[in-house]
Amino acid sequence: MILPVPVGRSFTYAVPPQMAESIKVGSRVVVPFGNNKLHTGIVLSAGDSADSSGYEIKEIAELVDTEPVVGGHELRMWEWMADYYMCALGDVMKAALPGGMKLTSETSIRLIDDFDDFDSLTKSEMTVMDKLSGGRHKTMEELHKAAKGINVMRVVRSLMQKGALEVSETMVETFRAKKEVHVRIVPKYLDETALNELFESLQKTPRRYALMLKLAELASVETAIKMRNPQLMEEVSRNRLLKEANVSAAVLAGLKAKGIVETYDYEIGRLGGNAGSVVDQLPLSEAQQAAFDKISSEWQRHNVCLLHGVTSSGKTEIYIRLIRKMINEGRQVLYLLPEIALTTQITQRLQRIFGDEMGVYHSKFPDAERVELWQKQMSARPFSLVVGVRSAIFLPMQRLGLVIVDEEHETSYKQQDPAPRYNARDAAVVLAQLHGAKVLLGTATPSIESFYNTTIQKYGYVRLDKRYGDMLLPNIEVVDVQDLLRRKMMQQPFSPPLLAEMKQALESGEQVILFQNRRGYAPVVECNACGWVPTCEYCDVSLTYHNDDHKLHCHYCGNTFLIPEKCPNCGGYHLRSFGFGTEKVEEEVRKLFPKARTARLDLDTTRSRSSYRNIIDAFSEGKTDVLIGTQMVSKGLDFDNVRVVGILDADTMLSRPDFRCNERAFQMMSQVAGRAGRRNRQGYVILQTRRADSQLIAQVVEGDYMGMYQAQLRERQQFFYPPFYRLIYVWVKHRDEAVVNETAYLLAQQMLRVFGGGVLGPDKPAVARIQMKHIRKVALKVSPAMPAAEVRANLYSIVGNVLALPRLRSAMIYFDVDPQ
Ligand SMILES: [Zn+2]
Ligand SMILES: [Zn+2]
Repeated sequence: MILPVPVGRSFTYAVPPQMAESIKVGSRVVVPFGNNKLHTGIVLSAGDSADSSGYEIKEIAELVDTEPVVGGHELRMWEWMADYYMCALGDVMKAALPGGMKLTSETSIRLIDDFDDFDSLTKSEMTVMDKLSGGRHKTMEELHKAAKGINVMRVVRSLMQKGALEVSETMVETFRAKKEVHVRIVPKYLDETALNELFESLQKTPRRYALMLKLAELASVETAIKMRNPQLMEEVSRNRLLKEANVSAAVLAGLKAKGIVETYDYEIGRLGGNAGSVVDQLPLSEAQQAAFDKISSEWQRHNVCLLHGVTSSGKTEIYIRLIRKMINEGRQVLYLLPEIALTTQITQRLQRIFGDEMGVYHSKFPDAERVELWQKQMSARPFSLVVGVRSAIFLPMQRLGLVIVDEEHETSYKQQDPAPRYNARDAAVVLAQLHGAKVLLGTATPSIESFYNTTIQKYGYVRLDKRYGDMLLPNIEVVDVQDLLRRKMMQQPFSPPLLAEMKQALESGEQVILFQNRRGYAPVVECNACGWVPTCEYCDVSLTYHNDDHKLHCHYCGNTFLIPEKCPNCGGYHLRSFGFGTEKVEEEVRKLFPKARTARLDLDTTRSRSSYRNIIDAFSEGKTDVLIGTQMVSKGLDFDNVRVVGILDADTMLSRPDFRCNERAFQMMSQVAGRAGRRNRQGYVILQTRRADSQLIAQVVEGDYMGMYQAQLRERQQFFYPPFYRLIYVWVKHRDEAVVNETAYLLAQQMLRVFGGGVLGPDKPAVARIQMKHIRKVALKVSPAMPAAEVRANLYSIVGNVLALPRLRSAMIYFDVDPQ
């Protein structure tokens, strides 16, 4: 049995005779655990072989499903993940299953506001509903106590199916803005004469007239009438309509009261989509066709193939062909995208092409929706294509034929916290192997590991050098900021060449992207008199000033602080700030180019899913001229009117204390540079740096991936880093600094004794305290010659030894395998 608890592997329970016939591997059961709390578990294996020696075996309380909810391949992947990433199997289960499928005593439940079908409820269901009335959340445990004599787990599940209850997870609440109010004209006006009469009658009320005119335009009412097909009307959101018609909500309410328009809830990003069509499929270029053919032939010899295609080379078209081919052969495709790219153009295009064959999966979707998609994938008619972020790797698949990992170099494929700290790209390879499926890794800037795997013939390799539609690669100009500063020629964060390019772009109606990898207004604040720097109360890190709310922000724990009225150190009254965050860059652009329409793309402006999309859409449609952003602007976006990309400060990327620093800097700069360029015309990239003569900058300018790769590979070999050695970090956290220090010290000592070498640390990380917890790290470099199972067993026993010391028992220790 797998239980959603962060300890151990699996647990043994006795099967009551009445369940013996119907229990299946992969089904859910409810069992008592620990202090007789109830948990939903998954059956990992069934039979009488289980070893029962040593402890009392409890009985399964309830069998939830008669059919499995998790397939055999998925369970094997869970086991691999727990082994490889050194965490509990229960951690994997927790990450894999949507909340509604793993009820435990601690799960919090609440009523769904608009539920009104009370007639369909049984007596016990009504009792549970009563206990939850008044909008309160209750945990299963509380419900159990409140509703005595009722099988709460069963009743709650059935109420969830009826749409009366939901799991209240804090994450879900933040992202509940799934429904948008849309407006449409009532059907009786979908007739030329009726519509003309309507407009005639509205002449006297200009604001109503304006709103109707806008609605007719946005909804393409004319086309719908002409083609006699109301289905051709476009969706119109209420907010957009009011904004573009520039009228108040009262005007809309008036029209609604008169029965001219109606409003309805439109659900964004629901399962499925519009009917599929092939209109959107563009013909493959010669180069794309050649790549497509080569991928198929590489798959004859390798299960995994790397598609190395320069930015804007049209990889998506190739993916679309491969997906179509797989679906035609009756197999399923899983298409993984980095978190942020999911809401963009790619998903919309795929949805237009694959329509209701396709589902979208995101860990931030409401739980009910995730459960729905999960169940569909286990049903007789699963989606053929699932597009999702890293957690989509857990979705059940029945006939998986292909996994596409787009932008495979992206660090967001690796989960940092909590366990399992898995890399979805690597898990995809394992999953595909279990299913006998193929994997395609796509990127313009392969990770060192993936490229290395092609050179040792582990992965196949296909290169696509040509940009689609003869788009030219951008021209990159390096600007030496050091020199310009000396000559006092920098105008705030902008160099003269960048300003000249920006000016020209704006004058000719072209666009600009400015990349600055720091959000907020000013990254450094200090007392003018004594140099005192405000730091976070909970973390060892200095604070960033944000102009939006005039507060100091901690970028590690998210807490905000008021600006002190006077310096707590010297009592001085003047704080000054240095550096440029995205907010300040935007302010400077507005000062220098007052007519330019600007937008900012960073964590602060994209708290909700739709805001991200709105910013991107506005820029794509040319409604903004200058887009200022953090690394978010580098993520798989295609624009076709960007004349110039400015990288304001390359140096922040070049000076991180991390063996992947250069690889990442190359990837980030190449990706953001790739956003420049327009059809048939070259784009310009202005790269500002103080280290103009560094080798890495030269490699970025030349687009010399191979040069970067070889230089990095030599260093990795010399210093025993991946891909030559495996890396495992052992992290220690505790509120008490003495405890962390001793724990980390003992761990390092014992690791040295057991492994004989390859142990680094204990280290104090750059930010050595986060949210009141002190942090230390011990790194282990493992030779590939050492069997992985032995390494893990040794590490577990070392940790066991250290935690056996009573004074260190409360230290938190966990592993990060293949850290990013
Ligand atoms: Zn001071
Ligand atoms: Zn903090």
